[in-house]
Amino acid sequence: IPTVRIDKLLSSMGYGSRKDIARIARAGGITLNTAVIVDVTKRIPITPDLPHHMTIYDEALDPLAPMVMLLNKPVGMTCSHSDGGALVYDLLPKRWRLREPRISTVGRLDKQTSGLLLLTDDGDLLHHATSPKRRIKKTYRVKLARPLKGTEGDLFASGRMMLENEDKPLAPAELEVVSATEALLSITEGRYHQVRRMFAATGNYVAGLHRERIGGLTLPEDLASGEWRLLTEGKVSTIF
Ligand code: URA
Repeated sequence: IPTVRIDKLLSSMGYGSRKDIARIARAGGITLNTAVIVDVTKRIPITPDLPHHMTIYDEALDPLAPMVMLLNKPVGMTCSHSDGGALVYDLLPKRWRLREPRISTVGRLDKQTSGLLLLTDDGDLLHHATSPKRRIKKTYRVKLARPLKGTEGDLFASGRMMLENEDKPLAPAELEVVSATEALLSITEGRYHQVRRMFAATGNYVAGLHRERIGGLTLPEDLASGEWRLLTEGKVSTIF
């Protein structure tokens, strides 16, 4: 089992500089197995259940890396680390901005798109889940400004659809019509504004876009807009 210095660990988790950690410990603010930690230069084993045995400011330690979060993204927030407006990262605890490795979104949703978004500090997961080769299916609920014509499904499924200013056809996508102005669209790529551009190419306009599913993972019904939760290891494997 690898070990780590307490001050280095807590600092990498965003709790403050090593100096800050030493100060918190001196004030009695850090415990391990209910004993107050005095020497933060001590090395401790990194075990997955460490957060159950350590407290800081009387609260359980945050989860250790690697972690995966599932978020119900609200409309109006961007999947960017630095942008003038509201960021999806603002929905997580503030100190997590300082965590290393850095937490990033797995792919992106447009500012005006809502729904299922994954975030992680796991570089391998980030790479695999966004790799075009994996063709992970993403399903969107689309609200349209104009009624469907009825020919969209065949066009999207053809594998021959071209978007403006691109030279490679889109991979086949699946359309499930819900009503004249609502449909579920499943795509396996992640091109820029892909769903909006697909409908724009048919003369329609996407008035509302909400992602419901990534691979085998569905946005939980009890997860309100702006809320997030940790994904257990078993659930992470359902993405692929
Ligand atoms: N397609 C889009 O146009 N926007 C998204 O946010 C996701 C897919």
